[in-house]
Amino acid sequence: MDIHTLTELDRSHIWHPYSSTADPAPVYPVERADGVTITLKDGRRLLDGMSSWWAAVHGYNHPRLNRAAVLQLEKMSHVMFGGFTHDAAAKLTQTLLGILPSGLDTVFYADSGSVAVEVAMKMAVQYQHALGAPRRSKFAALRAGYHGDTWHAMSVCDPVTGMHSLFAERLPVQFFLPQPPVKFGEPWREEAVAPLADLLDKHGGEIAALIVEPVVQGAGGMYFYAPEYLKRAQALCREHGVLLIFDEIATGFGRTGKLFACEHADVVPDIMCLGKALTGGYLTLSAAVTHKNIADTVSNGAAGCFMHGPTFMANPLACAVADESVRLLLEGGWRENVARIEAQLRETLAPARDIAAVKEVRVLGAIGVVEMREPVNLRRLQPKFVERGVWLRPFGKLVYTMPPFIMQPHELDKLSDGLIAALREEYGG
Ligand SMILES: *Cc1c(COP(=O)(O)O)cnc(C)c1O
Repeated sequence: MDIHTLTELDRSHIWHPYSSTADPAPVYPVERADGVTITLKDGRRLLDGMSSWWAAVHGYNHPRLNRAAVLQLEKMSHVMFGGFTHDAAAKLTQTLLGILPSGLDTVFYADSGSVAVEVAMKMAVQYQHALGAPRRSKFAALRAGYHGDTWHAMSVCDPVTGMHSLFAERLPVQFFLPQPPVKFGEPWREEAVAPLADLLDKHGGEIAALIVEPVVQGAGGMYFYAPEYLKRAQALCREHGVLLIFDEIATGFGRTGKLFACEHADVVPDIMCLGKALTGGYLTLSAAVTHKNIADTVSNGAAGCFMHGPTFMANPLACAVADESVRLLLEGGWRENVARIEAQLRETLAPARDIAAVKEVRVLGAIGVVEMREPVNLRRLQPKFVERGVWLRPFGKLVYTMPPFIMQPHELDKLSDGLIAALREEYGG
């Protein structure tokens, strides 16, 4: 399709993420993507600073992932998971069992991150119900958190940035805790968990689970907090019979410098959600992983089973690619790559601190964040990145990058330079 027709069709008939059909923001037609390069239809080539929202950790069009998809496609792309099982799901499970924190041994596959969060929340409620505590049906969550866009996932997102007021009266009311005040790398202060201790003292009996993004809060603010918080949270939750859910959809598979962010704290949650990089960014697949005893408790409750079953559960094509993606990660020296990217981002993003409009620069693992003092003007800033051959997609006050782990030093230099040069053009300094 020629660029003009494509753009016209898109503008008139297609809805994009968080977008207005009345006043659509420009979108760039993509022709293909290879390695760390996204090629636009007009021939321009962009270095990918986003990994397509945390997912494409191995870059695009990877021969091994392509081959895994083709091999599976030639057998079957899908069969229902009710009453059937298959190699693709079994192999992926075996691979995940080899890397998941110990004890997390029971996997429920779903089709997107938000659905995995819904599944984890339903598991927690059914678990409490089975233990004779049906009053425990609410959730505790952190302010500035992000857990997805479906109804109950949205209810545990930050109430302000998650626009809870829009859906007021219709959204379940949850308990919100302040963002953990101790930043990653700062010395621990015990008063940081006082609000959680208070909440559990007062309302513990109404709460099924505490859900958090461990260590790195992603789309809610790109904030890094002290792992110690998770240790204290786990102890308090246990004391009060509240389950602990870790949403590792953004942080899983090496992004923070550990395979799973919970390893920074050495805490194993009761339920963990996986998604995004699970398939290396190829296909949509997610999982809620728990312990056999929790799964059995759920199963022995009133319903006699867990009440969830997506049509495309454990989609073989997605599972086969996910298995290959995790193997590739483990064989590919992810730890060295992420450490290398972290060190380089610390160095190359540091000059952004000289720009008056910049509030803070922070880096953890393969995540680089430049926080501005005011929200950016995306429509003005995005073309400035594109002109410089880099793909970045700021939101609110946050200009950030999480490049594919395969990005080479000279490419990462170009990415950081493009980011800073665009900010200088926009803000001066
Ligand atoms: C992206 C994300 C989700 C939602 O995943 P989708 O696949 O977009 O539904 C949930 N939690 C976290 C932490 C995420 O980053």
